[in-house]
Amino acid sequence: MTTPTLDVVQIPVLEDNYVYLAHDRASGQTAVIDPAVADPVLAEAARRGWRISHILNTHNHGDHVGGNKAIQEATGCRIVGFGPDAERIPGITDRVQDGQRVSVGSAVAEVIFVPGHTRGHIAYWFAADRALFCGDTLFALGCGRLFEGTPQQMWPSLQRLRSLPDEARVYCAHEYTASNLRFALTVEQDNAALRERGERVTALRARQQPTVPSLLGEEKATNPFLRADRPSVAAAVGLPPDDPVAVFAEVRRRKDVFR
Ligand SMILES: [Zn+2]
Repeated sequence: MTTPTLDVVQIPVLEDNYVYLAHDRASGQTAVIDPAVADPVLAEAARRGWRISHILNTHNHGDHVGGNKAIQEATGCRIVGFGPDAERIPGITDRVQDGQRVSVGSAVAEVIFVPGHTRGHIAYWFAADRALFCGDTLFALGCGRLFEGTPQQMWPSLQRLRSLPDEARVYCAHEYTASNLRFALTVEQDNAALRERGERVTALRARQQPTVPSLLGEEKATNPFLRADRPSVAAAVGLPPDDPVAVFAEVRRRKDVFR
C-alpha cells in the first residue's frame, strides 16, 4: 500500500525514553515500538481502543525491550526483532533480517540493519507514511553511543538512514536533543540552520515540549553525526575532509567526553 495509513502516538516513559504506538487505520492493528515498560503502553492503547498486535524492537537494551513480556502476556502480540539477536530479545516470535518487510495490517515497514550502537540494531522504515523508527542509532541532533560497534560500522549505518527522504519523520527513542544541541554548536557554530534549529529546540524544551520527531531533512542540515563528510565538520575537528569515518569517529569521541 502506498497511501499513508498510520496514526503514531508518542508515550514518554522513564527518564527520557519515547515509546511509540503505530496504529494502522485500515486494519485496526497496532504496533508498539521499543516498549521500555508495559503499563503506560497498555493504558494508552486501551484508552484509544487500539488492539496491540505487534511489538517492533530495534535492539536488545533493557529500556527498549523491558515491556515485551508483560505486553505479550496481556495481548498475545507478535514480537519482531533482529534474527541474529534473538536470544537477547525477550519473547521474540518473528526473526527478521536486513531488507525484510514487516506488515502491521496494511502498513509495511522495511527492516534496515544499522549496526554500531549494538551489533544487532535495526530500524523500521514505513515508506508510505514517511515514518522512521530508528531506536538509538539516530537521535535529533545526535547518534547513539558505540557500545558494540565501530565507527567503520556506524558511519555506513547513518549513511543508510541519511539516504531516506527529507520528509521522513525521525521517531527516535530518547529526548536528548537539548544536550545534543549544546554539543553540535561546538562543532558547527557557524551553521545558520543549526543555530535557527537551536532556538526552536530551546523554546520547546523551556515549555517541556518534545523535540521528537524531527524531519530527516533538518537532521541532514544540522546533525553533526550525519555531516562527517562535510568539509566544515572535518575542519572543526582538525582532520582532512577525505576520510569521513575518521571524522565521524573523532566527533563521536568528543561527544563521549562532552559535559
Ligand atoms: Zn540502546
